[in-house]
Amino acid sequence: MTLPSIALIGLPSDVNSSFERGPALAPAAIRAALWSDRGNMACEDGLEVGLDFTLDDRGDLALREVPEDDAAITAAVAASIADGATPLALGGDHAMTHPVVRAVHAAHGPLTILHFDAHPDLYDRFEDNPRSHASPFAQIMEAGLASRLVQVGIRTLNAHCRAQAARFGVEIVPMADFTPDRVPVLEGPLYISIDLDGIDPSEAPGVSHPEPGGLTVREVLAVLRRQRARVVGADVVELNPRFDQNERTAILAAKLVRELAALTVRNGG
Ligand code: MN
Ligand code: MN
Repeated sequence: MTLPSIALIGLPSDVNSSFERGPALAPAAIRAALWSDRGNMACEDGLEVGLDFTLDDRGDLALREVPEDDAAITAAVAASIADGATPLALGGDHAMTHPVVRAVHAAHGPLTILHFDAHPDLYDRFEDNPRSHASPFAQIMEAGLASRLVQVGIRTLNAHCRAQAARFGVEIVPMADFTPDRVPVLEGPLYISIDLDGIDPSEAPGVSHPEPGGLTVREVLAVLRRQRARVVGADVVELNPRFDQNERTAILAAKLVRELAALTVRNGG
């Protein structure tokens, strides 16, 4: 019997970051944490990497910091789906979620997206860049790639992004009175995007835009654990190794990769 396969696709680009560069270094840092002997291959529900599913590490895409990178990302994700794997992209900055989702949508149709982030990333354009890492979800909704977008961890909603959320029908679970059971149990096909700055900087310091008052790691895992829909793709983005402390944000990113993979397998992805 062939094991379910999750394709890890490294996207080492931070050209669309608005403030600090550094997420281009993230895929290598996540990979090092993932395969380090100090880690563990068992996930929280008991599924084990290598026994119950494989993490097919496809290495890093050769990106050139040009707009054509988006087409290369979409093609690589499409190739992984064609091979029967579920794509899990390792950022890189959040801009890449748009070309990744484009490929997943082409295979599965309109998606439900569960998005963890301190920021809604709904700017029509940011500093005149429509490909900014502050804009991917505006582009995704604009293009009709998602039938439902649920955002968790948001704590920086300004007037422009509030108007954009209303325009696109985005559902935001407020951080102010957050509990995991306020996040709906979603229908599939489900895409999950985790911007590490959604998590509190005390647990995830290695990001470009730390925003206090965030989710605990345990809360993120509780939200994931409640989901029952088929997971058709995911990403972990915005790790900035330049600001990490003792690699703990990279270790967290690696854990989230394992847990996302286990959820995909558990839910029949
Ligand atoms: Mn963010
Ligand atoms: Mn983001």
